[in-house]
Amino acid sequence: MPVRLSPEIEVDAIGFDFDHTLGFDQQLELRFMLRYAAAAARRSGIAVDDDLEARAQALLMQARAGACSIDEAVAALLGQFISPEAARAESRRWRAEVVAAAPAWVRPLEGMRAGIARLEARGVPLAILTNGWSPLQEAKARAVGLAHLPILVSECIGVRKPAPGAFAALLDRLGTRAERTAYVGDDWQIDVLGARAAALPAVWVPEHAPSEEERRELPRRVLLIRSLEELAEESPERAPHRGRMMGEAPHPLAGWADELVCQRLRDFEERRIAALANPDDVEALHHVRTRARRLRAALEDLHEAYPHAGPMLRALKRLGRRTGAARDNDVLLERVERYCAAARGATREHLERMTRRLRQRRERLRKRALEAIESCLLLPGEGADT
Ligand SMILES: [Mg+2]
Repeated sequence: MPVRLSPEIEVDAIGFDFDHTLGFDQQLELRFMLRYAAAAARRSGIAVDDDLEARAQALLMQARAGACSIDEAVAALLGQFISPEAARAESRRWRAEVVAAAPAWVRPLEGMRAGIARLEARGVPLAILTNGWSPLQEAKARAVGLAHLPILVSECIGVRKPAPGAFAALLDRLGTRAERTAYVGDDWQIDVLGARAAALPAVWVPEHAPSEEERRELPRRVLLIRSLEELAEESPERAPHRGRMMGEAPHPLAGWADELVCQRLRDFEERRIAALANPDDVEALHHVRTRARRLRAALEDLHEAYPHAGPMLRALKRLGRRTGAARDNDVLLERVERYCAAARGATREHLERMTRRLRQRRERLRKRALEAIESCLLLPGEGADT
């Protein structure tokens, strides 16, 4: 059934980009790459430098641009710390774990569900055309409740956006003509210009608000929207109630709570990776505990608006218990060393013996704390129990 998206755009079907258009994955691949790299470095006794994240990002960009496969990108990063064979084996394990984690990491874009439901209620054929690898992109679509939509993944169709062949595959799948099929995406070059080059009208839903100049100079048959909820807005009486999905009213603070928890989770994850990469850094353990406390406070305060906090809270409490002894020991050791430097005679001898004992204990406790930090994989939404 035709749908009018704007005075100049009427179409019979709509294709969608996935990442940052329908859902966002909170840098799932990058986070798991860093976790695997930190673990590999620790096992090999190699220190990780500050450039690790930049290198991982560069390798991911290469994979996304089609310069190498995702397995090659992950193996290249891990190959800095372990043998090429072990890196390839770890890369396979990484791939399986990332796909398994998708349901917990991927979140729908605001307004996505309402927009999709509204279009489906009007009988508009929809499909997803996404650059990426399989089966991760399919898992992401499932994670946000879009498993029922046809999905074309660049790895499977052998062509990536913005190449016209990718849009041709979408038209083939939908059985519609280019000028009667809109393509919705967040990326100006890949989605909007790619679609227009293939003669499809484009709907641009940018992650950040475009400048006044960009707004003024929008090409013909390009529609700018802020949220997918705006799609097919001219028939609100036929659409589900705004802000509702599947008959369920979200908590009024749900979006804000999700954003805050995700921000604190990212802070925690960054500190966790840094601690694993620098096992001898006393302060790194302290930073992990601080970020864990902040995340825990947010989860406890927002439990009504963030309903999946239970498993993460349990994992954080367990982490607190397992790392607490190491932190207490570090604090006491630092204090005793200070006293020792100023003491004389028998007092100094006594403090030196105590220092030696605390140092021996530190090794054992830090090992246990690092094991707890490594196994504390927090998945927003579910599955944090380890
Ligand atoms: Mg995108």
